[in-house]
Amino acid sequence: MPLKKNQIIPLTIEGISSDGSGVGRWEGEAIFIPGTAPGDLLDARIVKDCGRYAFGIIEKLVTPSADRIPLDCPAAGPCGGCALRHLDYAAELRAKEEIVADAFRRIGGLELPVHPILPSPEVDRYRNKVQFPVGRDKNGAPCIGFYAGRSHRIIPCPDCKLQPTILNEIANALCGLFGQYGLAPYDEETGKGLLRHIFLRQGKHSGQIMVCLVCTRGRLPHSEEITRALLEKFPEITTILLNVNPQKTNVILGQETKTLYGPGYIQDTLCGVPVQLGPLSFYQVNTLGAEQLYQVAAEYAAPSPEDLLLDLYCGMGTIGLSMAHQCKELIGVEIIPEAIESAKSNAARMGAEIAAKSRFFCADAGQAATQLAAEGLTPDIIVLDPPRKGCDEATLSAVVRMAPRRLVYVSCNPATAARDAAWLAKEGYRVERIQPVDMFPRTKHVETVMLLSNSLITAPLKK
Ligand code: SAH
Repeated sequence: MPLKKNQIIPLTIEGISSDGSGVGRWEGEAIFIPGTAPGDLLDARIVKDCGRYAFGIIEKLVTPSADRIPLDCPAAGPCGGCALRHLDYAAELRAKEEIVADAFRRIGGLELPVHPILPSPEVDRYRNKVQFPVGRDKNGAPCIGFYAGRSHRIIPCPDCKLQPTILNEIANALCGLFGQYGLAPYDEETGKGLLRHIFLRQGKHSGQIMVCLVCTRGRLPHSEEITRALLEKFPEITTILLNVNPQKTNVILGQETKTLYGPGYIQDTLCGVPVQLGPLSFYQVNTLGAEQLYQVAAEYAAPSPEDLLLDLYCGMGTIGLSMAHQCKELIGVEIIPEAIESAKSNAARMGAEIAAKSRFFCADAGQAATQLAAEGLTPDIIVLDPPRKGCDEATLSAVVRMAPRRLVYVSCNPATAARDAAWLAKEGYRVERIQPVDMFPRTKHVETVMLLSNSLITAPLKK
């Protein structure tokens, strides 16, 4: 019997799905309910039945799970960013470990031990990058917040718990200044108004702060007064930028950026690699989490002084560069030109020896890998860190043709990691290690590092 819309059914939540919802079963059908915890007994109201699975909401929480903790953010439900804020952190970690194991089992068909997940060194306020849309509060004053689900309406959120307090304070102070000078937030529906987003970054180790105001026009009235007031209150601010985005789009940043104050970038380090960050740079958002991730990647890669390391999807080169001291040669490939420029200058700042042994190419990973394979390049180790959709077959088959001793696959999507692992396993790469790493506490996201070895040339690792 298909479930009807608005039908109410009793449900026990058994686990957390990869979209962050709790999952229970009703006559064999999986029912997804957001905001629930494993062990919850509830009455669920069905919103939509899709045949083999259905979506619902909590009608009544009959017996709450012992894994629940009180919600400490008024925006937690509608915001959707912290899909797991109602779980205690140990339960969140268990759920993420299970999401990874489940993906390898179901999607990869690989029944392999998954290492216990590495917790994030910081559970709240870990993000080094903030992008707040600017809207109006109920009194009409400019405020920061987030878009209510599938709408253009902004729900105020003055203290997001994932962001460092100082970044929330800067954004709130800016909104106060916008109000004081009569500057209007951008209205997505009408396309009118000036201020679209407040984009902030803070270097975890350096403490330097970048403020970038994303505006519909290239001129910010009262920019001098705003800059002065902001710097007086927050001396940690290193640079202030104005990014121009006149398009009717939900892409945050526009093409053009002007510097209102300071050098136009901030500096920081990641696993000892010096980095220079502007608004466009891709940079891991949880610095301490990323350093832990890179350490696992380095341990798995274990380069020796004779090795050539190929870093595919290298961003600004940080994973490969963090291991550059240990290998003979490093090649990085990345599709975004600015990221490649950053990778080159990061290498240069590490000194002449590292710069001399590193090369970075701006290209599609698949095309570059195909060409490098055709040229007879034989990297000893390949690191892959693709976006959520994973690698395409062109990339994977070129990687296999180059026959590296080891592959280190870093992934922000267990489903595509498992799919690609299964493909590589068929081509002779043995999955040796699967290490989930929590880079995004309180959210549904989980990172995974995998080690795969060439089964023709290496013996299996001891467990
Ligand atoms: N390894 C880096 C970046 C990982 S994020 C780090 O740790 O910081 C994934 C990267 O893949 C992004 O920088 C993105 O720009 C890049 N990318 C996306 N599609 C690509 C493609 N087809 N070819 C090469 N790089 C790609």
